[in-house]
Amino acid sequence: MKKNILYTLLVALSTVVFVSCNSDDLNSTSIFVDSPVEMTSFEQWIYKEYTEVYNIDFKYRMEDIESDLNYNLSPAKVEKSKEMAVLLKHLCLETYTEVTGSTDFIRSHFPKIVHIVGSAAYNNAGTMILGTAEGGLKMSLYYINNIELNDYAHLKKYYFKTIFHEFAHIFHQKRPYSTDFNEISGSDYVTDDWNVAWGPGDAGDVVARKSGFISAYASKDVDEDFVELLAYYVINTEAEWNAIIAQGGEVGAPIMEAKFEIVYNYMINTWDIDLDDVRRVYLRRQSEIPSLEFANLQ
Ligand SMILES: [Zn+2]
Repeated sequence: MKKNILYTLLVALSTVVFVSCNSDDLNSTSIFVDSPVEMTSFEQWIYKEYTEVYNIDFKYRMEDIESDLNYNLSPAKVEKSKEMAVLLKHLCLETYTEVTGSTDFIRSHFPKIVHIVGSAAYNNAGTMILGTAEGGLKMSLYYINNIELNDYAHLKKYYFKTIFHEFAHIFHQKRPYSTDFNEISGSDYVTDDWNVAWGPGDAGDVVARKSGFISAYASKDVDEDFVELLAYYVINTEAEWNAIIAQGGEVGAPIMEAKFEIVYNYMINTWDIDLDDVRRVYLRRQSEIPSLEFANLQ
């Protein structure tokens, strides 16, 4: 009798496995649908390091369906794609994995698709879009053909601020922060005027700090403010962060500090993540860039 139950159970189990295999075969969103040819060693590396470890698909071949057709975009070069694949894994995914002690955090929360594009996306307002995240499922990163591996300031400004910014949107979308945050800058947010309100470029960021915004873009709305504070904090050394805050002067500095305190406490209390740990690990990993292997992925 026991044997029969076991046998029935085994039949049931194998049926489940079979059915799920079947539905996998019929799944039109399979990541291999577009590449029936043999995988290159780079694609094998992506499968091993991204798909198997984190259940993330790293798409480096630009697909129209994945891109915003309103922009004139060019694909990422394979050499540059390899550099971004290695950098994203080392500086962001593994930073959170090291801090949380498990790959589960990235597996559960990082977008399932990373799509990279060679050029930047420029819009009519003359601003340059470096990254987008759609509903927590896909992160698009632009300007990949301009990566300068030896220039950390460039890597932070054009790529890692964007990556930590976009990932932080997922945190607050899943678990909202306290509305106390919204009240600090209150009606000072300027929405789409963020790129004209403070003047252009890096100088505009410095002007915005005098009104309590870590960057011009942070003045767009509360969510952008929240994620910009988080991103600036983790990619800058303590001295760099203090210098940025000091640019706010007597008025701006205390506003940025008050808002950042809410960001910091939110990450500890809501996600059990100490942003000081994220910063420490990120900066150490940044210093390891010269020893990373980029060339042997073909
Ligand atoms: Zn944003």
